[in-house]
Amino acid sequence: MDTAIRKVCVIGAGVMGAGIAAHVANAGVPVLLLDIAKDGPDRDAVAKGAVARMLKTDPAPFMSKSAAKLVETGNIDDHLDRIAECDWIVEAIVERLDIKQSLYARIEALKRPGTAVSSNTSTIPLDHLVAGRSEGFRADFLITHFFNPPRYMRLIEIVRGKDTDPAVAGRVEDFVDRNLGKRIVRAKDTPGFIANRIGTYWLAVAINAAMDLGLTVEQADQIGGRPMGVPKTGIFGLVDLVGIDLMPLLSKSLTATLPQGDPYFDTVRPMPLVDKMIAEGFTGRKGKGGFYRFD
Ligand code: NAD
Repeated sequence: MDTAIRKVCVIGAGVMGAGIAAHVANAGVPVLLLDIAKDGPDRDAVAKGAVARMLKTDPAPFMSKSAAKLVETGNIDDHLDRIAECDWIVEAIVERLDIKQSLYARIEALKRPGTAVSSNTSTIPLDHLVAGRSEGFRADFLITHFFNPPRYMRLIEIVRGKDTDPAVAGRVEDFVDRNLGKRIVRAKDTPGFIANRIGTYWLAVAINAAMDLGLTVEQADQIGGRPMGVPKTGIFGLVDLVGIDLMPLLSKSLTATLPQGDPYFDTVRPMPLVDKMIAEGFTGRKGKGGFYRFD
């Protein structure tokens, strides 16, 4: 069987999916980028909008114009069967177990046996993602957790499940190492893996402390940026980059999966301001702005 990765499908064209597709195309590999079908005349508008975002020159494009020619766009209602053309399917849709699981059921029916499928989930254990799927699907499945922005962050967390075929995972690992220039950290299949088990905890502690102390966003970021290892954006700037709407989803996912008594539970509290911002479209860089303005 020919097992080379010659074409990649990325499903989900949001912050991460768009960035992953751009990074793969920059490496000279063709990409099929799919998102949900949009009502109206152009059903592929969501994925097309993601390509346009990746070409924006402010502050610097994430993808070259020649690489953009390698990206085909589509939607999961009309074009999901085209995953059969691809040698690696990367799922980067919303951080919700139920929605990811129903997409996998559709992928399972259409993909070629042996084609790797990986999730970019930040927190959801692999075991939960593949619940109900066939033995064959579970053998082809792993987690490839890229960091934001995928073009610049060198690290990738990879999680193999107990049923993952080492040959399939090895093919993906070779590709992300040689073609995408990533350093691989193998993580165990636990909630939040390594980075988000630590990261979501300290982010929550820092945001809670800033609110309790009545600091402005700028003050909190001056104090908490460099000492906490995020000198460029600061803490609130990092949340704007990640997407403010992702924060409650991460929290829900972690509280559903972490063992009772984990220190993360001490950080979980209602955040009415964050809920209001999300409801009004202030989701950070990808939205109307967030803790900072981006216009
Ligand atoms: P996002 O909200 O920016 O984008 C999600 C995209 O998925 C949207 O374009 C949405 O239309 C699409 N979508 C939703 N349901 C879909 C479906 N059924 N089929 C196809 N597309 C669908 O989210 P994001 O921040 O890019 O996060 C995507 C994944 O990556 C999540 O699992 C998240 O936890 C993970 N992640 C995010 C970051 C980050 O910094 N934002 C970092 C690492 C990992």
